[in-house]
Amino acid sequence: DKIKVALNGYGTIGKRVADAVMRQDDMTLVGIAKTKPDYEAYAANKKGYPIYAVDPAKAESKFKAAGISLAGSNLDMIKKADIVVDCAPEGLGEENKKSIYDKLDKPAIFQGGEEHEVAGTSFNAAANYAQAIGKKYVRVVSCNTTGLCRLLYAMDTAFGVQKARVVLVRRGGDPNDAKRGPINGIVPDPIHLPSHHGPDVQTVLPHINIDTAAMKVPTTLMHMHFVNATLKKKPSRDEIIAAIKQYPRLWLIPSWYTIKFTGDVIEFGRELGRPRNDIMENAIWEESVTIDKEGEFNVFQAIHQESDVVPENIDCIRAMTGIEKDGKKSMEKTNKALAIGN
Ligand code: NAD
Repeated sequence: DKIKVALNGYGTIGKRVADAVMRQDDMTLVGIAKTKPDYEAYAANKKGYPIYAVDPAKAESKFKAAGISLAGSNLDMIKKADIVVDCAPEGLGEENKKSIYDKLDKPAIFQGGEEHEVAGTSFNAAANYAQAIGKKYVRVVSCNTTGLCRLLYAMDTAFGVQKARVVLVRRGGDPNDAKRGPINGIVPDPIHLPSHHGPDVQTVLPHINIDTAAMKVPTTLMHMHFVNATLKKKPSRDEIIAAIKQYPRLWLIPSWYTIKFTGDVIEFGRELGRPRNDIMENAIWEESVTIDKEGEFNVFQAIHQESDVVPENIDCIRAMTGIEKDGKKSMEKTNKALAIGN
């Protein structure tokens, strides 16, 4: 039987997870829940996704006026599902847990905007798939943390990470977000060091010694990380490249592609005909992969904040429901269904 998935919250992350669920042969989408009708609801309706209202008393007349028929309330949707993926705005996942998932006794996946404690288990498919097996609540870590966990897990497994230091240059807001910024300037965010990203990586990889600093800049396309790590073994550059190549979600950009900046990465997504030009892989510049005599590894990677967590949510569904106990097999299946790595 296919796993029945409900999407509670249908914004930047939720709509992508819903589409990704539809592309798996072992899952079905029960429906999506929205607070109000808008262009995303219009598109979901056109795709034939059953639409449920987060607060029907408030929303019913608005959906009716928009010509979108509702399948019920989000509670109705969640009751029909085996598992919920909560993609509500930051902090609301915790409220939904108390007011809905606990009461209906329904397994739920939370996103990176929630605290680790909301779920008690934080997830990255390559790093700790097995820890999510059979769990009731799991949090898929944020876009930046996902990107860092993927790379640091690969480096740690192959060579041992003694200490990682990361500078994150973060997009000011998503392309459809008019409220965030800055529109002119560079914001140390947070000014207090280290930033929360290091401890967040440790919710998945507790033994990794890591310091992080982050800045926000006026761009919407992607984040950029400069990663420096002292490695216990002293691998050659070729060995590092070979290690990266073992993971399809770590995508090495050869220099002949002439991808010069994040704009080119996104344009490449468009050229490939990727849905919403999504780049779900870490985009790693091969030319920047460097190792010195002391075993210091340096690299640039770009992270598509809107989509890199999507395959991780799919794998998390398989782990929590136990339909696939082998993380490698789940990732292979997800990668194939989403054309990751090609
Ligand atoms: P978003 O604002 O784009 O979408 C949130 C959606 O939830 C909206 O459709 C909103 O109408 C709906 N919603 C509002 N209240 C709700 C409720 N009570 N119940 C259910 N749905 C409700 O937000 P997003 O960017 O998709 O972020 C969702 C989560 O994913 C957050 O935890 C965020 O931190 C995390 N995340 C975001 C990004 C990113 O770059 N956008 C990346 C990784 C993780």
